[in-house]
Amino acid sequence: MRYAKITAITTAIGLTLTATTAQAAKPPAPNLSNAHFQQCLDNLQRSSAFRSIDSYTFNNYRPSEPDPSVIQSLNYQPEFQKDVWDYLSVLVDKERVEDGIRAKYEMADTLRRIESRYGVKPEHVLGVWGVESNFGQTLGKKDLFQSLATLSCFDRRQSYFRGEFANALKIVQNGDIAASDMKGSWAGAFGQTQFMPGTFLDLAVDFDGDGRRDLVNSKPDALASTANFLKNRGYRSGEPWGYEVKLPQGFWGANSRHDKKPMSYWRDKGLTLVDGRPLPYDLDRAGLLLPAGLNGPAFLVGKNFDTFYSYNASENYALAIAHLSDLIAKEDSSKTDFITAWPTDDPGISRQQAKDIQQALINAGYDIGDVDGIIGDNTRTAIQQYQTSKGVFPADGRAGQKFYRLIMGNNSGGASSRSFNTPTTPVQKTPSATNDSITQLIERQDGYRRVVGADGSVRLVRIDSGK
Ligand code: CA
Repeated sequence: MRYAKITAITTAIGLTLTATTAQAAKPPAPNLSNAHFQQCLDNLQRSSAFRSIDSYTFNNYRPSEPDPSVIQSLNYQPEFQKDVWDYLSVLVDKERVEDGIRAKYEMADTLRRIESRYGVKPEHVLGVWGVESNFGQTLGKKDLFQSLATLSCFDRRQSYFRGEFANALKIVQNGDIAASDMKGSWAGAFGQTQFMPGTFLDLAVDFDGDGRRDLVNSKPDALASTANFLKNRGYRSGEPWGYEVKLPQGFWGANSRHDKKPMSYWRDKGLTLVDGRPLPYDLDRAGLLLPAGLNGPAFLVGKNFDTFYSYNASENYALAIAHLSDLIAKEDSSKTDFITAWPTDDPGISRQQAKDIQQALINAGYDIGDVDGIIGDNTRTAIQQYQTSKGVFPADGRAGQKFYRLIMGNNSGGASSRSFNTPTTPVQKTPSATNDSITQLIERQDGYRRVVGADGSVRLVRIDSGK
């Protein structure tokens, strides 16, 4: 099975049930010999995989040195070390749902034509687009030739990456994409669909009719290529991806996405939609997905969920696409949690809350770089130091709701009756504590204003001036 992109080489199964919140530190960047690298490239150029690449193209885009950071990333896969609720709270937050709804209207005509050509629902195309590249806003910045050449000559999976290096050169040789646009993830996924070069060659389409398959600059090309990918992986027109469901009292079952059964089987077992309504008839067969075991949200998922999975080989990733697509279809950004709460007393945070935490850390004197809403190693280290300074145990560096409340100074204030529907804060079982945090949250969020630029980018602007 070939996936559209690669974020984990070691496993094709997303980690689901993790009791701890271990955050592995990034391994140090290795020392890579440039002499070995250049020798390796010489050998590659003569090998059969590169026979179809002309020497002008090869020499023109041949990197002068390896990039050790991609080897570092190869051995560090944060998506697979996060709890499912942390993973989803960042990928499916109010901001992304709102951006998706706006994209749905902006691209309505294109999405309609894509649906009639490929049979893929607009919201499913949008779900992939939103999770993959934040609707074209986040494409990755690494030079593809340097990344793929480095991965071709060092560490694990060299033969796979050699093929992709050759494919990347083929793309510029064919003239589909300008070499200056060949930038992407450490593993070589690029463009608004984050396709690997091989997936591009197989499945990218020219939908705007300019004769080039440009997944970097053309939204129609990117969206149609996504639909073409899903169709190629067995997407079933007219079917939903699945549903959040309610398990009957005393139900015992295992995570069994691949073991699909007719819906009548699940009805007989007593499963319903999560709100208690009977299971609909628009899904042929479905498997049970329990991302956090029997005590968390439960889902029945059909074939179309598997096509999302085939994009990146992670169930959590596929669930993010599925959930985002539902919220975009419903045009509802008021609540981004599932109905059933995750089995944790410390749920994940939204990107907005991540930005709030970063700003608070900067205010507290920690040097974490820019406020970007991405909890990376610098932010995690600062969180760990902050936790230690406050006597929090364990000082795990994790940015969850508990840490959010800690750093936002949630120690005072009475219960508030203000209604609160920021969707990324799951409903908690202790009303008094929740109300306290709600007051702080609203004040804090009122300190910011979100500004949408002409290009659709969303910026955060502070309103208060030092008070
Ligand atoms: Ca085109």
